[in-house]
Amino acid sequence: PLPVVAVVGRPNVGKSTLVNRFIGRRAAVVQDTPGVTRDRIAYEALWNGKTFTVVDTGGWEPKASGMAASIARQAEYAMKTADVIVLVVDAQVGVTETDLAAARVLRRSEQPVILVANKVDDERSEAGAAELWSLGLGEPYPVSALHGRSAGDLLDLVLESM
Ligand code: GDP
Ligand code: MG
Repeated sequence: PLPVVAVVGRPNVGKSTLVNRFIGRRAAVVQDTPGVTRDRIAYEALWNGKTFTVVDTGGWEPKASGMAASIARQAEYAMKTADVIVLVVDAQVGVTETDLAAARVLRRSEQPVILVANKVDDERSEAGAAELWSLGLGEPYPVSALHGRSAGDLLDLVLESM
């Protein structure tokens, strides 16, 4: 079986946009409305001669009350099934309760967890990513999934972690 990379995070942080970068085509549905992606869609990807599976997650019902519980379940599932977990946080919004709930689960992951500060569209916004250190998952990795900024370097890092 191919190594599995699971992309997790709360709705609207840019998971599907990042997955599209990883697979090099527009297959994951990007939506301004949270909750549109169906649960756990797997794609095959190729980078630097390595083939792997990328799993886009997060199609839960966007009920405010259940969000933290949903993301905790999503993170638990990723820990059971993935070789590398990518937690995506929206650096323009900053750390939310839901991000904290995901991080709390992922801090006990035996698999490597890569913390991505997404929506860092320019150098100016990089300072905002520093807040993500508070999640206790190590150094946040600033990217712009939308513009592709640092996406290749992130994929290198993901593959090195496998
Ligand atoms: P998901 O719910 O986590 O899968 O998020 P989506 O990939 O569907 O993206 C949600 C919204 O954020 C869309 O409007 C995207 O265009 C936007 N978005 C995603 N990545 C970036 C980014 O790097 N920068 C900016 N400015 N917007 C982004
Ligand atoms: Mg999505």
